[in-house]
Amino acid sequence: MRIELTVLGSGTSMGVPTISCRCAVCTSPDPHDNRTRPSIMLRYNEHVVLVDTTPDFRFQMLREQVDRLDAVLYTHSHADHILGLDDVRPFNLQETKVIPIYGNRQAIDGVRRVFKYIFDGNYPFGGVPLVQDHLINGPIDLFGLEFVPVRVMHGYLEVLGFRFGPVAYLTDYNRIPDSSYPLLRDLDVIFLDALRHMSHPTHMTVAQALQEVEKIAPRRAFFTHIAHDLGHEETNAKLPDHVRLCYDGMRLEFDTD
Ligand SMILES: [Zn+2]
Ligand SMILES: [Zn+2]
Repeated sequence: MRIELTVLGSGTSMGVPTISCRCAVCTSPDPHDNRTRPSIMLRYNEHVVLVDTTPDFRFQMLREQVDRLDAVLYTHSHADHILGLDDVRPFNLQETKVIPIYGNRQAIDGVRRVFKYIFDGNYPFGGVPLVQDHLINGPIDLFGLEFVPVRVMHGYLEVLGFRFGPVAYLTDYNRIPDSSYPLLRDLDVIFLDALRHMSHPTHMTVAQALQEVEKIAPRRAFFTHIAHDLGHEETNAKLPDHVRLCYDGMRLEFDTD
């Protein structure tokens, strides 16, 4: 099966450029330095699956000319990963389709709290997104592709990364528990959190992310959740050949069997 992966957003929670900032990256003419909030899209078997619905969801869907949405997997319920959920409504209009959403207990509870009106069920006049929440307890099959949840720690919060075929997507963590490494063997591609060079209590630095690349040993690695501290070209020039910052609109294709 052929899978097309698109990076919808590669930026940290505030996005790049960051409101009111005049730094070199925020004012850079290089389009790779424009980063919307972090999310990826998978297209396979004529279905579209997203990881997270960011505050930039509507813009990302328009930019990539996405014409359907079949499921959303949530990493966690921080604002930069969920706030676009209300904008799934145009996809509901297609055959009045209810979109399944998946997450761990904390993610689902967070989405239900922030989007209380979606789940209240007492608004009979339409205009509310149609979604059905599902708890992830282990690997799930969506439209013929298996998604394996990979636990990572974002400070005290347990966040889910996902492995699908030869690819894994991990974001928003400062520690990968030992029990998660066996799920990351033999990867063609891994996406890893790399916020900036300066240390952060809940994210990885570029140096820490490079240590994970060594330990996990994927064929290629892409860094995401990138802050305005890291210029695209300048940072890539210092990374090993098989490691790159990802960027909005980046596309990969791969096969599973
Ligand atoms: Zn985040
Ligand atoms: Zn800036």
